[in-house]
Amino acid sequence: APLTMRPVARESIMRIAPYVPGRSTAGANRKEYKLSSNENPLGPSPAARQAFIDAASSLEKYPDGGATALRDAVASTYGLKPDRIICGNGSDEILSMIAHAYLEEGDEAIFTEHAFLMYRIVTLAAGGTPVVVDEPDMQVDVDRILEAVTERTKVVFLANPNNPTGSYTPASEVKRLREGLPGNVLLVIDAAYAEYVRKNDYESGIELVATREDTIMTRTFSKIHALAGLRLGWAYAPANVIDALHRVRGPFNVNAPAIAAGVAALADRAHMERAVEHNNYWLPEVTRRVRELGFGVPDSVGNFVLIDFSTVPGGDAGEADDFLGARGCVLRRVAGYGLPQMLRMTIGDEEANEAVIAALAEYREGLA
Ligand code: PMP
Repeated sequence: APLTMRPVARESIMRIAPYVPGRSTAGANRKEYKLSSNENPLGPSPAARQAFIDAASSLEKYPDGGATALRDAVASTYGLKPDRIICGNGSDEILSMIAHAYLEEGDEAIFTEHAFLMYRIVTLAAGGTPVVVDEPDMQVDVDRILEAVTERTKVVFLANPNNPTGSYTPASEVKRLREGLPGNVLLVIDAAYAEYVRKNDYESGIELVATREDTIMTRTFSKIHALAGLRLGWAYAPANVIDALHRVRGPFNVNAPAIAAGVAALADRAHMERAVEHNNYWLPEVTRRVRELGFGVPDSVGNFVLIDFSTVPGGDAGEADDFLGARGCVLRRVAGYGLPQMLRMTIGDEEANEAVIAALAEYREGLA
């Protein structure tokens, strides 16, 4: 064959806009406040860190492919059956397994306008067709999702709470969505930020999944457990869905130190509660103070807020991003989520939060 020939990836793969993670501090030799990836400023439980270190003494061994210890720990923590749980290398991997197991070429996956970006990526990677539903006022609209259903719809992704908007869908609306969808459509409730939600009408999906054969809930250790670097997630699903996902799962997808750390993290309830309390204090505090500066801040139930620069005369998210970055404050651009005039700020520790608020005040003054 001529040397000019080369393998060509599938057309749908080439349509994927690669996921661009929040910038990292690597290489910076000055103080930086990285509030761009919804990481937990308190760090992991010391017990989880120790379990990770201890696991390093047997790295020559394969992990337990079924992640039994972790599934048992999740099951006893949440009162579930271990055989209805599957673990992943981050919940991202579980989203990918879902797309590969349920979407054939041409099948449709529905998600909303400002939904988490991985839904588009995993749908295209599996050969599926993304169907994007409008989000009036950055809220998920169940009726619009139901109207978008066709005979080709196989999966609906719903982030609850959603990243980056911080919005949530009340339990009654999730139930109405489920009941309005045909039984052959898998509803994926991505509850990555469930532990942060302080709303009486919220339900992470556990209750809904318990009674159905068509709904899966995904969770992560990256946020409340502060183990983003280990890549660990889990899902709760009916037996038929668990069976399908195991067929596409890599045989040793979750590594041994991650399993050990995850088990220890779940056991350290007090540590988790500290992270919740930290967020309970700082989420409303940051929201209030950034609003006081004149910026729009939509209500959020996660560990992050959106800051709207279009609400101040002369404000511009791109310019603000550069301005903040020059002061060591790294926020997340969300133009790729259809929010070009907003930045997403993770709730950090006190020092980081104060640094961002001070830099925002300075930016605001410069415009006046
Ligand atoms: N779902 C949502 C809504 C998220 O924001 C994230 C993290 N960016 C994930 C899933 C993936 O988390 P992980 O793969 O770290 O478990």
